[in-house]
Amino acid sequence: MVHGHKGVRFQNWAKTYGCSPEMYYQPTSVEEVREVLALARQQNKRVKVVGGGHSPSDIACTDGFMIHMGKMNRVLQVDKEKKQVTVEAGILLVDLHPQLDKHGLALSNLGAVSDVTVAGVIGSGTHNTGIKHGILATQVLDNLDSHLKKSEYFRFLWFPHSENVSIIYQDHTNKPPSSASNWFWDYAIGFYLLEFLLWISTFLPCLVGWINRFFFWLLFHRKKESCNLSHKIFTYECRFKQHVQDWAIPREKTKEALLELKAMLEAHPKVVAHYPVEVRFTRGDEILLSPCFQRDSCYMNIIMYRPYGKDVPRLDYWLAYETIMKKFGGRPHWAKAHNCTRKDFEKMYPAFRKFCDIREKLDPTGMFLNSYLEKVFY
Ligand SMILES: Cc1cc2nc3c(=O)[nH]c(=O)nc-3n(C[C@H](O)[C@H](O)[C@H](O)COP(=O)(O)OP(=O)(O)OC[C@H]3O[C@@H](n4cnc5c(N)ncnc54)[C@H](O)[C@@H]3O)c2cc1C
Repeated sequence: MVHGHKGVRFQNWAKTYGCSPEMYYQPTSVEEVREVLALARQQNKRVKVVGGGHSPSDIACTDGFMIHMGKMNRVLQVDKEKKQVTVEAGILLVDLHPQLDKHGLALSNLGAVSDVTVAGVIGSGTHNTGIKHGILATQVLDNLDSHLKKSEYFRFLWFPHSENVSIIYQDHTNKPPSSASNWFWDYAIGFYLLEFLLWISTFLPCLVGWINRFFFWLLFHRKKESCNLSHKIFTYECRFKQHVQDWAIPREKTKEALLELKAMLEAHPKVVAHYPVEVRFTRGDEILLSPCFQRDSCYMNIIMYRPYGKDVPRLDYWLAYETIMKKFGGRPHWAKAHNCTRKDFEKMYPAFRKFCDIREKLDPTGMFLNSYLEKVFY
């Protein structure tokens, strides 16, 4: 149980601003942060987090609950190969630098002082100079723009019910084909095992998170590189029958939408989601009913397999996903499952009426309609 203190006076580093929070907490774990937030919610209090307290404004001040992050300052993981470091939000840069140094790593840019926390500099948009360098927040490794710039055919897979993400870069090369062979997958053992485990999970849905994590480990725990002809790289042998939804949302909404999907699954542990959620990106176009009409887009594909042809309950997942996609301005893939009707499409597509006029002119008797298209156009 985290204990709070009364009567603490907070002042920023320059002593230009200060405040007297009603309660002052120094949590040591995510669990304790949750406790403080639950208490604040219960008592209808406001909460402000403070890092190094170096902001020359009153941005960190509050008369409600103050959470000081000084005791959440550990380096959790260092991946030298990926140049990726996972730290707790309250670590001061002055403590981070020597830890990075030990591994031959360093931040590619930082502000003028280091007595500031990682979350403080990320949260306040701290910057330095160098026209090729973004603000410090752009070094956070889930930065989408840098991935998109780094690889012509970038995509990523999220394994629901876990923190696991697999990043896939695909690019042109002159190297000869050198496919990484793997007997476990080549002889389909992995597929048989997956189908069997997914079938078991139809009786024990709580296994799905475990299955997702296990297959992430089997598939992606090692860095893999292979070269092959493009039609062998872009396509794969799809062995499972499946239900799929795939909506296009504005590219800049990717992170928010994915985090909301994740939060929904965390808040509803009974809703199960098979892996992967595949996230792909496309350029905007001028095609009237293209889901990418006039905007660069992110397609977020969700999937529920049908092990041995058996349907797995998916309606709650489907509905929650659709609600999130709609909220972020999504447009469903025309060929994949969706529950939208003309009313929805009128809102989604600025040129919907224009398209309808053209369609009615070209097919005045409705000869080319079917029941799917009637839902779309009537
Ligand atoms: C001498 C000096 C030099 C500076 N030089 C530069 C510079 O070169 N470039 C530049 O851009 N800025 C500069 N700054 C500003 C400084 O980088 C920012 O004020 C930075 O936010 C300070 O980090 P902090 O950890 O002290 O954050 P705080 O001041 O403690 O907090 C800043 C904001 O971050 C939030 N925050 C902190 N921790 C968390 C968390 N764990 N979770 C959620 N929110 C959190 C706070 O609520 C607050 O809104 C300088 C400041 C000083 C005093």
